[in-house]
Amino acid sequence: LGPTVCVGEILVEIVATTVGDGFLEAQPLVGPFASGAPAIFISQCGRLGGKAAMVGAVGDDDFGRVNTDRLKRDGVDVSTISIDPDYPTGSAFVRYRKDGSRDFVYNIATSAAARFGWSQPVGDLIHRSGHLHVMGSALSVPSAREVIDKAVDIVKARGGTLSVDPNIRKELKLDENTKRRFSKLVAAADLLLPSGEELERAAGVEGEADAIRRLFEVGVKEIVLKRGAEGATYFGRDGDRIDAPAFVVQEVDPTGAGDCFGGAYLTCRRLGMSPQQALTYASAAGARNVTVLGPMEGAGTQQELDAFIASTERRP
Ligand code: ATP
Repeated sequence: LGPTVCVGEILVEIVATTVGDGFLEAQPLVGPFASGAPAIFISQCGRLGGKAAMVGAVGDDDFGRVNTDRLKRDGVDVSTISIDPDYPTGSAFVRYRKDGSRDFVYNIATSAAARFGWSQPVGDLIHRSGHLHVMGSALSVPSAREVIDKAVDIVKARGGTLSVDPNIRKELKLDENTKRRFSKLVAAADLLLPSGEELERAAGVEGEADAIRRLFEVGVKEIVLKRGAEGATYFGRDGDRIDAPAFVVQEVDPTGAGDCFGGAYLTCRRLGMSPQQALTYASAAGARNVTVLGPMEGAGTQQELDAFIASTERRP
């Protein structure tokens, strides 16, 4: 039915190479790395051999080229990434703390990432797309929101499918309008990919079992809950449940695990694999990506994931 399309922010990430106490002290940095949750997702789709295209914007600068060159190499169609002549590519700086938490400094709101819109090439792509992937966080960005609203209606009307990663942090307060849009988006999802407490937030109900039940009631078709180093769980509408234990790895950089996991799961399902098979590749993609510094530097091809699966133990 056409390529998987992801709409959203494209950034570079510049990350600390040591663990410290936040941004107030000088630390060695490395980067720029291609990044942005939707870009990581689509990179993993492309690497696995699924047809994939990205809608978003970068500035007319080297940070932008880091992203477009990388996605092109991954096999992603980048013709609908617009080049903004006036605003720079978005960026994020990341530092790691001793307790495992991360500090971020973002420049997104005043970057090209927050300024793309609907255009003829975007419309043409959406009209031939078979699947749309959307991050809940994009609903707070007015330009992305407009593209997403239109794209969801068009893709669903032509029989395409929708996946949604709520990607909404607990601290983020949504206004009533965004909450309504978020609920509508969740209800339209053929595949929902929440992590941790996002499940209950997306359902508006407490408790895992009640949240799952509620989400199926409102129309979600398939749910995969991401649990970090604890693994992941598939829930089907027919009551099926599959627990996928995590692979045992040395975590170097947790950023991007969820997006690699989601991109791999979706691509495998679109390529005709069972939930069980797709979960294995997705778990491998998430785990492999945390073993290297940089948000999508560990995204694997099918061959790389097969080698990883064959050589890595899973938690009991
Ligand atoms: P992020 O927002 O950082 O991209 P997320 O919260 O959406 O991540 P996670 O649950 O952290 O998603 O990771 C997705 C999947 O990747 C997990 O379900 C697991 O299969 C795998 N994974 C993540 N971290 C690890 C780890 N430390 N060891 C093994 N597997 C991991």
